[in-house]
Amino acid sequence: MSFDTIGLDGRILQALAEEGYTTPTPIQAQSIPAALEGRDLLGIAQTGTGKTAAFGLPLLHRLSQGGARPPRGGCRALILSPTRELASQIADSLKAYGRHLGLSVAVVFGGVGYGPQRTALARGVDILVATPGRLQDHLDQGTARLDRVEALVLDEADQMLDKGFWPAIRRILPLLPKPRQTMFFSATMPAEVAKLAGEILKDPLRVEVTPVATTAEKVEQKLIFVENSGKRGVLAGLLRAEGVGRALVFARTKHGADKVVKNLAADGIQANAIHGNKSQPQRERALAEFRTGRAPVLVATDIAARGIDVDGVTHVIQHDMPDTAEAYVHRIGRTARAGATGIAIALCSPDEREKLWQVEKLIRQEIPREDRRQDVSQPMHRTAGRPDAVKPAGGGRGRPQQQQQRRPQQGQRRDAHAPKPQGRGGDAPQRRPAAAAAQPERKDRAWRDADFRDGGNAPAFLRRGH
Ligand code: AMP
Repeated sequence: MSFDTIGLDGRILQALAEEGYTTPTPIQAQSIPAALEGRDLLGIAQTGTGKTAAFGLPLLHRLSQGGARPPRGGCRALILSPTRELASQIADSLKAYGRHLGLSVAVVFGGVGYGPQRTALARGVDILVATPGRLQDHLDQGTARLDRVEALVLDEADQMLDKGFWPAIRRILPLLPKPRQTMFFSATMPAEVAKLAGEILKDPLRVEVTPVATTAEKVEQKLIFVENSGKRGVLAGLLRAEGVGRALVFARTKHGADKVVKNLAADGIQANAIHGNKSQPQRERALAEFRTGRAPVLVATDIAARGIDVDGVTHVIQHDMPDTAEAYVHRIGRTARAGATGIAIALCSPDEREKLWQVEKLIRQEIPREDRRQDVSQPMHRTAGRPDAVKPAGGGRGRPQQQQQRRPQQGQRRDAHAPKPQGRGGDAPQRRPAAAAAQPERKDRAWRDADFRDGGNAPAFLRRGH
């Protein structure tokens, strides 16, 4: 699908071409045609999916047709956002996509003077992007009116709930005309958010992309910093640890996958590779051996892994960080199927830091680091405890230390200290400097070389002898 055939005004297409957008993202491909027909939308989408354009382009298209003028003191489209940073970014995006349309865009948020906002509102604007609290103030002061709104967008509704904007939203919504288009976006759907969506949306098209939140909740994620040269040893150590039933190991390339299998074989661990260069019988044999536990380690490339449908994958180990952040989510989604819990461990070398940052932007959390300062007698894993768990063929060898290890409580989550997603998280376009303020603090810029020395922060027993 391309933007050219989606039905958008030619001036918007021109702006998109200037932005360098050629293909709609999945949420855009699904949302835009329906929104152009005037349908309400319920978008369940994380940041970084292109959701701003998913609602913004149909909105711009709608407002650019017919030549209606904005009402004095009010606006034709209202976008509610949880933070000033997100509000500014949405406004910047709309100005960029609508640069040939001559529509006016104003932003209203707290923490700054009222004067300029009042002036802009008094003239009337086509699109008003606002945080609910400050908009409520303007409404209370009689410096804003919403009775001419044709389209409403609630962006990051779950964040607005978290930030205590619900009462303001509840007071604002009845002031809008009923005949209107409503587009509602939220990364997660807690009950209160779902209730509001149910109340204000009419026969919405529900669009859901990369259900990161639901997947990540059941998966215990971990990150190990390790030099490329240390990955072989760390991987073998992880696979020898008890509790590994079926492990799916991701490699970035076909050649890389073959090399991992070869190294594992040399380290006494039975594994097969599955990738595009394998014949059909080879793939079937690899899958059969994976299912039966004869070779309970399967090393796959991203594309090959899509066709694998095996339950009971206890561990997903990312030998290489994925090329795209979305692939990380798909990879970890291969474990923790059907309500089971799973463990996903990513190995990250210094040259993969940028990829890690992209992933953490997308999932809006910091993947818990395996703490290198921990007592090395502490275990790395809890037992998966699955009745069908089988040990790797090499599992009996070379692991005297693990057998004496204490184990954490079953079900103990290691991401308890992950930072709460803040504001827009990873939503920000990289090339726009304004985005920086809304990003979670980029701690990893400060990663020190020490994090990567001697096999990174993997416990010592994993490093010894490799
Ligand atoms: P969003 O989730 O709306 O914040 O978008 C995330 C990033 O993707 C922003 O940097 C957008 O500028 C960019 N983006 C959105 N849609 C597209 C597209 N169709 N092609 C390329 N980049 C896009």
